[in-house]
Amino acid sequence: MDLFTQHEDYQDNGLVSNVIPSLVTEEENCALTSVPLSEEIWAVVKSMDLDSAPGPDGFSGQFFVSCWEIVGADVIMRYNISLLLDDLSDMVSSFISNGSWDLPQLLHFYFPSLCDWISQVPIAADPSAEDKLIWTASSSGELTAKHAYIFLRQPSPSVAWGKSLWSKFILPRMSLLAWKVLRGRVISDDFLQRRGVALVSRCDLCGIDSESLDHIFLNCSFTAAIWSHFTSLFELGGVPPSILEGLQVGMAVGRSGQLKDLWLICFTSILWFVWNARNKMRHEGKVFSVGTICRLVSCHIQAASRLATGTMHNSIQDLRILK
Ligand SMILES: [Zn+2]
Repeated sequence: MDLFTQHEDYQDNGLVSNVIPSLVTEEENCALTSVPLSEEIWAVVKSMDLDSAPGPDGFSGQFFVSCWEIVGADVIMRYNISLLLDDLSDMVSSFISNGSWDLPQLLHFYFPSLCDWISQVPIAADPSAEDKLIWTASSSGELTAKHAYIFLRQPSPSVAWGKSLWSKFILPRMSLLAWKVLRGRVISDDFLQRRGVALVSRCDLCGIDSESLDHIFLNCSFTAAIWSHFTSLFELGGVPPSILEGLQVGMAVGRSGQLKDLWLICFTSILWFVWNARNKMRHEGKVFSVGTICRLVSCHIQAASRLATGTMHNSIQDLRILK
């Protein structure tokens, strides 16, 4: 006969309680498991050996007795929280009674705001359901490596110019270079020097100054002459004060969609052809003139403009520039 699973056949005949007498009464059990009063803890502290330390921290009985006014409240709290932590090892469902939260009194006493917060958490329709962790930062409640990455990643602030660079009439490699230039991610000499590479820098375009990102794409006499040529064609003044302003000036409110598209093509292709010229001069020993780069940019604008979708304004300025 299976005595362990046939519960309905079990009958308490009092044999166990007769053979093993109960040595602790119900009242004694309550007293033993109740939370000690502050006075009781203080009485125990006073009775400790003054020259011995009760813990590995080395604080002796003398210390606790002498400084009880200062540390007493913390000792009592620490003791009670230890008891509380034992209680809190239960499942969440242990703290739910008749469909509402039933939190330990000590938790209410020491952490009232935490209890208020817990009390506001809606209780599941089926409180006997298994507890499980929910990752609130994902819609499914699941925590995966991808969700953790998205949560921890600090998204870069979006920039107004970001979208316009990826227009369909700009070649992706040109969009990518323009994005890298505006983000300062091009591997120019100053970029390498900031990362500890010891090198003597000289600009390949002018052969005079040392090379930096701003120098290659803006301030070098070689590049400045190219900017000057095209900003004059597009009636945008002279060399822009910064590379970003070079983009923005041609995208300003008031200019027609077609002019903006053409300037976007011009801006990205200037960066592209200047960077290519710099690389070929440095690594292949080739020579480029300002006139060559201007012709390459002009040809590219003509070819790419067929894909542009912006409409022109019926204005003198548009007719003059687009003729
Ligand atoms: Zn230069």
